[in-house]
Amino acid sequence: MNGDDEVQTRVCRACGEKYRYPVKHSPAQRFYCELCAQLPTTVRAVFERLTRRVVELERAASGRVAARKPHA
Ligand SMILES: [Zn+2]
Repeated sequence: MNGDDEVQTRVCRACGEKYRYPVKHSPAQRFYCELCAQLPTTVRAVFERLTRRVVELERAASGRVAARKPHA
């Protein structure tokens, strides 16, 4: 089995979407889906920041929900 050629489902660092990689004729990269791979580096960097924030917020929000459950 050659892991390098195996198509896998990855999560885009910039937009957080799941995508398949590597796919023939797709501009998708190791860390970016085919849409984000075509963005200018600076724009993609901003996306990455925002996505990191969203992930943090989601984690915080789900933690709060879980903490609230015992009292509900
Ligand atoms: Zn993306």
